[in-house]
Amino acid sequence: MALQPSSGHEGSGMKTQEGQSNPVLASDVHNIDQGLIEKMLYDALVWSSLHGLVVGDRSSQRSGKMPGVGMVHAPFSLLPTSFPESYWRQACEIAPIFNELVDRVSLDGKFLQDSLSRTGKVDAFTSRLLDIHSKMLQMGKNEDIRLGLHRSDYMLDQQTNLLLQIELNTISSSFPGLSCLVSELHRSLLGHYGESLGLDSKRIPQNTAVDQYAEVFAKAWAEYNNPRSLVMVIVQTEERNMYDQHWLFHVLREKHNVKSIRKTLAEVDAQGELKPDGRLFVDGQEISVVYFRAGYTPNDYPSESEWRARLLMEQSLAIKCPSISYHLAGTKKIQQELAKAGVLERYLDSQEDIAEVRKCFAGLWSLDDPVIIQKAIENPKLFVMKPQREGGGNNIYNEDVKVNLLRIQKEGTEEDAAYILMQRIFPRASPTFLVRDGICHKDHAVSELGVYGTYLRNKEKVIVNQQSGYLMRTKVSSSNEGGVAAGFAVLDSMYLT
Ligand code: ADP
Ligand code: MG
Ligand code: MG
Repeated sequence: MALQPSSGHEGSGMKTQEGQSNPVLASDVHNIDQGLIEKMLYDALVWSSLHGLVVGDRSSQRSGKMPGVGMVHAPFSLLPTSFPESYWRQACEIAPIFNELVDRVSLDGKFLQDSLSRTGKVDAFTSRLLDIHSKMLQMGKNEDIRLGLHRSDYMLDQQTNLLLQIELNTISSSFPGLSCLVSELHRSLLGHYGESLGLDSKRIPQNTAVDQYAEVFAKAWAEYNNPRSLVMVIVQTEERNMYDQHWLFHVLREKHNVKSIRKTLAEVDAQGELKPDGRLFVDGQEISVVYFRAGYTPNDYPSESEWRARLLMEQSLAIKCPSISYHLAGTKKIQQELAKAGVLERYLDSQEDIAEVRKCFAGLWSLDDPVIIQKAIENPKLFVMKPQREGGGNNIYNEDVKVNLLRIQKEGTEEDAAYILMQRIFPRASPTFLVRDGICHKDHAVSELGVYGTYLRNKEKVIVNQQSGYLMRTKVSSSNEGGVAAGFAVLDSMYLT
């Protein structure tokens, strides 16, 4: 364990709280005694080890393959981050509306195909997904039972005071397991040290993501209605974030007595079989629910084998989470199309819901708008350029926005269709203790709130449509990207103010 001094960013403006009699806010970390921080850090590291708040350690070769080998605590923030309760409520209220929106959009095959067709021409990955989707349209395949496990991510924009959506994930929404543990860790720390800090552990909202995810899996499995069937988790060949996944399926087995298996796409190709009636068997066992924690990035499809597996599963009667149309409905291109005037109205009935959803849309544009391109070239810092990718680390920022826009303009190719442009959101930065590899750094950091949503329906019957816990991620404000697994951010929880 080591405590490192602040790595710069010590603007005098950050030291205003000194001497104030107010209780210490979660964001006001300057007044906290070093000795207390050391004690909390030690306790937090012990707590993480004892409670499974762990990931595979990069420095251990087998840690991504073999559970129980080479574990390290997941990166976390030592204290929860302050977040206004009103915005938290707003994000919770809107979650079921987004669930419904994804479902409605997924049923509009023509909208998905038309919106993504230009992108598909220049982006091979999107093109392959579109191929599968159009095959399903041709087959007239209906998904009667539809399962959505989504996470809508937001940042609180400092200038406008608006909670703005970063993106809506419909595939592989990660950290339902570990995010709950971080909330518990913070509650435990505040339970012991809250008095000295002037913080009340009850202000950290209960995080029920793992229980709600497991419950909706159990319900989907029950809808499929074969007690011998299994839930199949599609995983990458190496996965350091495996414990987050294992938490989910541990709860599913312990609480609901539903069994699951883990398979890579290549294994599904080798062991999978479609019965004439459409039932999916893998390794001789019937699969009722397929849950993708892989398959969202081109890297997951190194050969035709993986694409065959994806198609096989899509054609089957198994409940896919997500189905190909749910997957496409969560692309950044569709996010941008939904933000156009009059589009939400096609999918949502209530004016109130439409207004709520629209309120959290940031500026989103396609690259065929010359006025906005010119603005972005002149002021690249105010925009983010995004390709149709997931998993972090793919976006373009700052001067690179200008360079790429000018290059695409000059080349005059269709490459513009691979990207969308988004208004850059600037959340307020505050000093934070970030803990990684047992080392605590103090730095200025910004946070991104993810709100999980679960949705299950069978034909006309909506069985589940809920907000289902949250993920807070915090990263040093000088970093553009925010992925925890990608090494940019730490897991965090929320201290309601
Ligand atoms: P991915 O699907 O790869 O997670 P995101 O759209 O979430 O893609 O972008 C990755 C990260 O980039 C986000 O977690 C966030 O930190 C940052 N980011 C994305 N869009 C914006 C934006 N409009 N303004 C500021 N930061 C952004
Ligand atoms: Mg994403
Ligand atoms: Mg993201």
